[in-house]
Amino acid sequence: MPYFTEHFGNASSKGHPYGWAAAAAVESARQQVALLIGASAREIIFTSGATEANNLAIKGAAAFYRDRGNHIVTCVTEHPAVLDCCSSLESVGYRVSRVGVDRQGRIDLDELRDVVEDGTILVSVMVANNEIGTIQPMREIAALAREHGALMHCDAAQAAGKIPLDIDELGADLISISAHKMYGPKGKGALFVRARNPRVRLQAQIEGGGQERGLRSGTLDVPGIVGLGAACALARSEMEEEGARTTELRDYLHEGLAQRLQDVHLNGHPEHRLPGCLNLRLGDVDGSQLLVGLRDHVALSSGSACASGTSEPSHVLRAIGVTDVEAFASVRLGLGRFTTRQDVDTVIERVVEEFERLEKFATT
Ligand SMILES: *Cc1c(COP(=O)(O)O)cnc(C)c1O
Repeated sequence: MPYFTEHFGNASSKGHPYGWAAAAAVESARQQVALLIGASAREIIFTSGATEANNLAIKGAAAFYRDRGNHIVTCVTEHPAVLDCCSSLESVGYRVSRVGVDRQGRIDLDELRDVVEDGTILVSVMVANNEIGTIQPMREIAALAREHGALMHCDAAQAAGKIPLDIDELGADLISISAHKMYGPKGKGALFVRARNPRVRLQAQIEGGGQERGLRSGTLDVPGIVGLGAACALARSEMEEEGARTTELRDYLHEGLAQRLQDVHLNGHPEHRLPGCLNLRLGDVDGSQLLVGLRDHVALSSGSACASGTSEPSHVLRAIGVTDVEAFASVRLGLGRFTTRQDVDTVIERVVEEFERLEKFATT
């Protein structure tokens, strides 16, 4: 709060104490973000979120290393912020390989091995999926990239603050983070840019005053950055306990629904999955109708990007081999720091009630 009102200085103003106070707050937040992923503070670039971080990482690396090759590798289940960047590079002459996944959403390592080549500039694969929560085998992916001299980018918007992440264990050269996915302010994020072994260079995508080592110009959003730093510090100290608690609640919810309803299937990986993510296929119910029936009590989303039944089924569910009908019968249940066991009991009751009401509808 004080950074919205009392400490109103511009972090780039070097000539007076107002600027110094803002700059000190920004540097302390930079340290907090770095600590969450085992990086050093100078490797953190503040952005407006993971979308911008992904744009900077992918387009910035593609442009800077254009003389090394023109090939980008990604995965079919990535977030649109990655897939659309790759498509846009394709339209200006880059080649893009989109590697498939298995039925649990894990990347096909054999296919990856086949496509990564010496002309590959960048391999971009998310740590954990936003719809089904599947966690990718990052170490294996990074090793393959490194073998061919390609950089490794991970979209960690979902994983950061939820599961332990370490830049060296991941083998990542670039990591995107979003503040609001870990209870920080919306519209804030960061990109980790490896400084050593190798030193990663990028072409800036937003030019101007040269803030953030020239990689992201524009006056820094001091309150947002302070908020992101605080969110990282909290996530780091509570991760272990929260992760265990959320996982237990998630499994309790899954079991509760599976016991009361027929035909409950998990979309995603049973083990390599985010603590708070439960994407379920509920018989052949119409997911969008289920959500409409629940919306006054339970804040839910469908497995697809858009909750409306008229939209296309989710590209993630399609990629793991779910049929369109099954995709429309899928709902994504998200649990987090403020979810209680009582909440889960309420959700089980409400979902079962609504499910049975819809079933009766369908058969009469
Ligand atoms: C939310 C999300 C993004 C976009 O992040 P913003 O900070 O909202 O721009 C990108 N990738 C994944 C995996 C996400 O979950």
